[in-house]
Amino acid sequence: MLAPYAATGKTSRGRHYPEPAPANRSEYQRDRDRIIHCAAFRRLEYKTQVFINHEGDLFRTRLTHSIEVAQIARSIARALALNEDLTEAIALAHDLGHTPFGHSGQDALNDCLREHGGFEHNLQSLRVVDVLEERYAEFPGLNLTFETREGILKHCSLKNARELGELGKRFLEKTQPGLEAQLVNVADEIAYNNHDVDDGLRSGLLELEQLMGIALFAEQYQEVRRRYSDIAPRRAIHETVRRMINYVVTDLIENSRRLIGESGIQRIEDARRHPRPLIAYTPEVAGKTRELKRFLRENLYAHERVTRMMGEAVKIVRELFEAFMRDPALLPPQYRDKLGGQPQAGERARIVADYVAGMTDRYAMREHKRLFAAFSG
Ligand code: MG
Repeated sequence: MLAPYAATGKTSRGRHYPEPAPANRSEYQRDRDRIIHCAAFRRLEYKTQVFINHEGDLFRTRLTHSIEVAQIARSIARALALNEDLTEAIALAHDLGHTPFGHSGQDALNDCLREHGGFEHNLQSLRVVDVLEERYAEFPGLNLTFETREGILKHCSLKNARELGELGKRFLEKTQPGLEAQLVNVADEIAYNNHDVDDGLRSGLLELEQLMGIALFAEQYQEVRRRYSDIAPRRAIHETVRRMINYVVTDLIENSRRLIGESGIQRIEDARRHPRPLIAYTPEVAGKTRELKRFLRENLYAHERVTRMMGEAVKIVRELFEAFMRDPALLPPQYRDKLGGQPQAGERARIVADYVAGMTDRYAMREHKRLFAAFSG
């Protein structure tokens, strides 16, 4: 049973190209199914989350990250009687627009495009599902529902929001998306904060002693050590991470339930118009997650071993972009076709960016090698 303010196929703002209702599944199940079958989804397997794909088999990739986000988000959705199918669709699609090599790749591409409107990975995720996927005879993209697209577009610059019509409106009017979208946003953060602790410790870039200064970790770790004094160190870490997830998820569910109750919202439109997000932690837990996030930013994402690797990634992305801009004949035929006759620099830049952004880490490295080995003769 769904809460009255959950998203439903009946209250959906619909699809850009109208389609008959699905026979044996919900509208949002159909969205989820289309996402799983698209090429961009399969590419997530070979895209960096924090660690470059070839560094080790156990680190998170964008694909396993997205699956973890979906798992956490669905648990919360079910507990709050929100739409689980929609939640899953948004979670699985939320990172489709990421470039190879994680945030460094996106910063590099944004830099390459600074005279042509820039590059935002959230907007690119939307572009993937709206335009770039070519799988259906009757429409471009995946023709997803408004609610799934609303959830995918987590952030957006005001300039771009103005060009997005109905979907961009909330950024201009400073209103909220539906509760399922709010929820996936927080589930994304829960997933990466926790799996980055796990990956950080496994890689040796983080030390247990450092994390003992972070309340969210230390409280759970001490409890694990008190209860299970003789388990192996790695097992204690896994038990700690599992408890951290449970701790923040429980707080989020209970506090959101309270906020929703107090708000008196009755329908999804009320949630959208509410002045503040209704899916939120208590201030205490919000403070602890901020502390962990800051810690990861300073000690893991800015770790010398990560940034050195990323310097190389920036170079690959930039040089690929410049090479394709200089000589579009180097592009694969389907991208050359999109360029047509004499495209403006802006159009060309966007098409080249679509190609480079779609690359997996290893494909980008291979392309780079191929092109630059050829150039140097
Ligand atoms: Mg994510």
